[in-house]
Amino acid sequence: MKTIFLDRDGVLNHRIKGGYVRTADKFVWEKGARTALRQLTQGGFQIIVVTNQAGIGKGLMTFDDLERIHVKMKKEAQEAGGFITDVYYCPHTAQEGCACRKPRPGMLVQAALDYGIDLTSAVFVGDSITDVMAGKAARTKTVLIAGCSQVCDTVRHGTVAATGLSTAQTGDPGANAAWSGMSSCPDGVAASLFEAAQTILKGEI
Ligand SMILES: [Mg+2]
Ligand SMILES: [Zn+2]
Repeated sequence: MKTIFLDRDGVLNHRIKGGYVRTADKFVWEKGARTALRQLTQGGFQIIVVTNQAGIGKGLMTFDDLERIHVKMKKEAQEAGGFITDVYYCPHTAQEGCACRKPRPGMLVQAALDYGIDLTSAVFVGDSITDVMAGKAARTKTVLIAGCSQVCDTVRHGTVAATGLSTAQTGDPGANAAWSGMSSCPDGVAASLFEAAQTILKGEI
């Protein structure tokens, strides 16, 4: 079974800029995301979510809050025919230097151990450069969800270092330097998880 790793905020649900989804009612699905989950499930993919949730480390929300959000997410996915096998999250802040916070690959590596996943045949879909970096570090294929057409074009043309994305956008102070030095771009760029899923299901990623 092939595995697809999904970032959460900005891929499955609307991300809250400069903040966190702290309660289940603030978890709002992205358009087409549940359809994509159903199609990927029907297509035989194992779906695993990997998400940074530093709001816990910052004391803005509790483990129980996050658990309630994920119960709702999995339930509503299942009602739409999509099965989420597991959710890995990093509760730490960037300052804690843990091994799980993306762009580090710790959550992907742990999932590979837990589920016997061949990471080189897995795909990681995320909306941040740090997702692409984590995927590359774990040797998965990577798809960047980029709503901004300018970023899409820039990435497609292989001049990512020139995008000038800020630390706020990447969410990690070290990300820009590492991204600039990366020799390769994501394997794919899509406007949404729905669009990414169509490409993945056709075997084009
Ligand atoms: Mg995200
Ligand atoms: Zn962590």
